[in-house]
Amino acid sequence: MVLNTKSNLSGGTGHKRSIVIVGAGVAGVMTAYAFAKRGFEVSLIDALSGPAQMCSHANAGILAVGHAKAWAGPGALNSIVKATLGLDRSIIVRQYLDPSLWRWGAEFLRNCTLQAHAANTAKLQKLSRYNCELISAAECDMGVPSDIRREGGLYLFQDEEQFRRYTASILDHGGEASEILDRDQLISREPGLKAMSHLLAGGIFSAADAVGDCKLFCERMTSYLRRQGSVRFYFNTDVLGLNTSANSVVSVRTNQGNIPCTTVILATGVETGRVTSALGFIPNIYPVKGYSGTWKIIEQEMVPKLPYVDETELLAVASYGSRLRVTAVAEFAGYDRTISVKQTARLSRYVTRAFGKAVDLDNAAFWSGLRPTTPSGPPFLGKALACDNLWLNAGHGQLGWTMALACGELLSQKIAGEIPKLAGVSSTAPWIEPI
Ligand SMILES: Cc1cc2nc3c(=O)[nH]c(=O)nc-3n(C[C@H](O)[C@H](O)[C@H](O)COP(=O)(O)OP(=O)(O)OC[C@H]3O[C@@H](n4cnc5c(N)ncnc54)[C@H](O)[C@@H]3O)c2cc1C
Repeated sequence: MVLNTKSNLSGGTGHKRSIVIVGAGVAGVMTAYAFAKRGFEVSLIDALSGPAQMCSHANAGILAVGHAKAWAGPGALNSIVKATLGLDRSIIVRQYLDPSLWRWGAEFLRNCTLQAHAANTAKLQKLSRYNCELISAAECDMGVPSDIRREGGLYLFQDEEQFRRYTASILDHGGEASEILDRDQLISREPGLKAMSHLLAGGIFSAADAVGDCKLFCERMTSYLRRQGSVRFYFNTDVLGLNTSANSVVSVRTNQGNIPCTTVILATGVETGRVTSALGFIPNIYPVKGYSGTWKIIEQEMVPKLPYVDETELLAVASYGSRLRVTAVAEFAGYDRTISVKQTARLSRYVTRAFGKAVDLDNAAFWSGLRPTTPSGPPFLGKALACDNLWLNAGHGQLGWTMALACGELLSQKIAGEIPKLAGVSSTAPWIEPI
């Protein structure tokens, strides 16, 4: 169904409460859409000049249901030791003396038990699967040709032993909605992998996965909401704090003046603690840096159509139209956004080896982004106890595009007085009443 009249979006169920959302990354934009659909008066504020200019800008774009797993788990302990000794190319720790990293790390370790890993992964799975249910309708509403390819995704292994252990663990847990493929089956499923077939041990096909350009989706959604007149956008507007009276936020203080509100939602990614600290709480969200490189495709047949994660190199690869994107690395370096030459060289080496003849190697666009990562994995989704009208939708880590629409939808259901379709999917903390 295409909703292309103003009344479709702003008429809704007749709510006239004003919602102010801070942050126009994928989390904020999707939240604005969910509330506009229910007839709220929505204002969306961002410090930058448009949507998706921070972490949502050049991510891998994989709606990665097959990868919706908590990082914290028994297997992570080995990675932590290797990273601490500087022996892991994909996990890099630079700020050992940063107190916020110690606070984050301590809680991460508490979540490394089997039980915690299973519970956190179940939350991520529920959110990402609910997101899949919602995304087609959102695309339909925008009234533009679909950019998201829903043909599944692959998880590849170059190491035989790693592949064997991984598949055994899937089978031990009763199997997932995924298929185990040997090298030949992989190539017949995805001929674009032919050039790197000699490197592959096998892989997993996850039918639920999809791929699409997250930034493009946010831009299209922003244009749609503008056309509908259902959301007021305040770009280039830096939120400096929240003005409170008694137990409520009465307005959002910005460098352009105060914006009054009845309800505020923070979708501020890694910056969330900076907004809330004056209210006496700092959500445990660490900025985990990652990198991407984007190349122009010159030979379409020689690049994969299916997105994939190379589980051995810990790299994600996706193609959108005429572009191939490769992303990698979890770097713990505080708020440093510098693009490391060493990391971009690693991305280039991978592309040269796997797709050297298929892309224009001389023209690559490199980017770094800070994943807003909670120690347990799921985002903070719920009401802050410090105020009776302040809500959070932040901390989506490596899965923001995979979960953002579900999170926005759940918040809008809750605040509109409906029964949320999912419960118990948020990270928990003493300062939040989680959904
Ligand atoms: C290399 C890499 C690859 C990734 N690949 C994938 C993938 O394949 N699939 C997937 O699902 N996820 C992926 N992710 C994760 C995903 O990109 C993030 O989870 C997601 O972008 C987070 O969105 P967000 O809206 O919470 O944060 P952001 O996109 O960072 O948005 C936060 C916004 O808040 C604004 N803001 C903050 N503070 C203020 C303030 N005080 N005043 C005004 N505005 C403010 C910022 O300007 C920003 O626009 C990847 C991330 C990286 C780094």
